[in-house]
Amino acid sequence: MLEVDNLKVHYGEAEALAGVSFHIMPGEIVSIVGANGAGKTTLIRAIAGMLPAKTGSIRFKGKDLKGLDSAAVCELGIAQVPEGRQIFPSLSVEENLRLGATLRRSRADRTRNMDRVYATFSRLAERRSQRAGTLSGGEQQMLAIGRAIMANPLLVMFDEPSLGLSPALTDEMFAVISALHGSGLSVVLVEQNVVESLAMCQRAYVLENGAIALEGTGKELLDDDRVRQAYLGL
Ligand code: ATP
Repeated sequence: MLEVDNLKVHYGEAEALAGVSFHIMPGEIVSIVGANGAGKTTLIRAIAGMLPAKTGSIRFKGKDLKGLDSAAVCELGIAQVPEGRQIFPSLSVEENLRLGATLRRSRADRTRNMDRVYATFSRLAERRSQRAGTLSGGEQQMLAIGRAIMANPLLVMFDEPSLGLSPALTDEMFAVISALHGSGLSVVLVEQNVVESLAMCQRAYVLENGAIALEGTGKELLDDDRVRQAYLGL
């Protein structure tokens, strides 16, 4: 479904991704783990059309994403739940959700997807007219996920969705990601909760200094001594 081949991304002279290759098959949850600064956010932003590749290719359902901007990538069916949520605090919950469905691919299904978001997140339904900035952190994270659902995606990329959430809300958020996956979505999951993210994915990659250092099934990486030492403190 998604094939990334030898992707290099620079910030000026600094190389953030040094030739990353990985893939996602339809219906998979793929986790990407790695230390701070390893390049996880850069990888997500490059796939989403927000950062240009220096070399390498990104293909989605056989189509080369080279030169496409973020709207064009979203139009093909790739949505993201960005780090830090990036909702519009002065707009209402419902206005934020509507902004997730402005493209051709999502406009026709706006009402159906809005119903789906409100069925998944009853607290958003209760607060649909409330300004998004007045929501709790957990509710804002649910709103960011809801906005991605509104885009009618085939693949959703989550960047640190549990950041700042309580353990209970983190569990709830993982359950929501599982349910979305169960409804047929493919998922890329970047998460600081390495144990949970490896336990729920089919396959995973470890990113180190802008390159893939390890790959395997979630279980293989959970059992890997290097992963256990570096990321699980065991
Ligand atoms: P974190 O978990 O801290 O978000 P990450 O794995 O997502 O880390 P990135 O944010 O992708 O890592 O950063 C990869 C590298 O690129 C780091 O060395 C970082 O300092 C650098 N970097 C990130 N954003 C920029 C930027 N806008 N300008 C210059 N360098 C950047």
